[in-house]
Amino acid sequence: MAVTHLQCKACKAEYPLEAKYVCERCFGPLEAAYDYSRLGEDVAGLRRRIQGGPQNIWRYADFLPTVGGQPGPSGRLASRAGLPAGCTPLIRADRLARHLGLREVWVKNDAANPTHSFKDRVVSVASVRARELGFEVLACASTGNLANSVAAHAAALGLESYVLIPADLEEQKILATGIYGTKVVAVDGDYDDVNRLCTEISAERDWAFVNINLRPYYAEGSKTLAYEIAEQLGWELPDRCVVPIASGSLYTKLAKGFEEWRELGLVGDPARPLPRMNGAQAEGCAPVANAYAAGAEVCQPVKAKTIAKSLAIGSPADGPYALDLARESGGGIDSVTDEEIRQGIALLAQTTGIFTETAGGVTTAVLAKLAQRGDIDPDERVVLVITGEGLKTLDAVQGTFQTTQITPSYEQFEAVFPEAGGDRAATDAPTSALALR
Ligand SMILES: *Cc1c(COP(=O)(O)O)cnc(C)c1O
Ligand SMILES: [Zn+2]
Repeated sequence: MAVTHLQCKACKAEYPLEAKYVCERCFGPLEAAYDYSRLGEDVAGLRRRIQGGPQNIWRYADFLPTVGGQPGPSGRLASRAGLPAGCTPLIRADRLARHLGLREVWVKNDAANPTHSFKDRVVSVASVRARELGFEVLACASTGNLANSVAAHAAALGLESYVLIPADLEEQKILATGIYGTKVVAVDGDYDDVNRLCTEISAERDWAFVNINLRPYYAEGSKTLAYEIAEQLGWELPDRCVVPIASGSLYTKLAKGFEEWRELGLVGDPARPLPRMNGAQAEGCAPVANAYAAGAEVCQPVKAKTIAKSLAIGSPADGPYALDLARESGGGIDSVTDEEIRQGIALLAQTTGIFTETAGGVTTAVLAKLAQRGDIDPDERVVLVITGEGLKTLDAVQGTFQTTQITPSYEQFEAVFPEAGGDRAATDAPTSALALR
């Protein structure tokens, strides 16, 4: 195992690998630290080991902060038990690229995870680490997808679970969570209220809150998205990624994953820059995009009001680090309106066949904005990160198209869709208010 300790991101103080997330000296966030020289393999050997691993995130176990190697109660290796996540498709999206005037766009479809969002990556790592540390209850403060994932992973591992959510969450997400037998606690307040309450509970109860006291482990799970993209591109890095930002964890850890692998020589040319990282937020909750635009170092908290509820964090924990990354990588952070989010969902669906939730509408709309502004060199290889599934936010597409209702008669069908002399063009009427032209 390469993981060695937890380290304060601010003052670099070191701590053992326990359920701890703030520095005692400076209150900075703790992060997992590694000594990769312990892997003791050359690049070819490391690549072979990864390729010979399971078809899920545990193929990257060497780069994750779980101890592993110890058979769990099931007799299987602890790190491979539970609900397997990852190895989601990376699809070349030529129709989308052409529509935007770009040459090479890839869609990383992380809706293709067990609970249909990228959260299965982070929860896999946190829940396995929670079990290694002896916790019996898994819990979280969630904007929806995390609740889904914690409930499912707890069920798979046979752990008890509590998920706390804002009471006004999408019904689909609540239903898809309660079914796993978790305790769903709907809090009368927004995500930031839920998060405060969970921090209080975690001081009183010996629970593994995946995104609070286990956050250093949880956060590392997002690196697997970077490893996968690089492996799927044939051990190469993209030139640019467009990534959603809620707390800023995924955005910053994706970059960390690319950086680690380049340092190890697993990918890329050390002489070439790391990917430009473009963050994406909804205008109705854009504390990081606002701070970026203002040239500020820290984010001013906001009250969220957007259809992109999975991204609605008004006080993002990793905001300052996200700002640093946007500036250092040569990327940026943009925000889009709810109407642009709806158009983004439709654009992705109509050019790729992928139906994403509102967060994917945010990234697709930001990609379109960057392309329109001419910020993207046509020769760049761009990866658009899609983090969740459209079926979970159906309300967002309500009223965006019309169905045509007819009686079961051919006459009526023909009357509605007339086929003049085999002229098929006449039947090509758009049925969607957001149809591409
Ligand atoms: C949680 C989430 C994100 C990003 O969250 P971070 O807190 O920034 O890591 C992105 N998309 C979806 C769909 C999510 O559920
Ligand atoms: Zn510190």
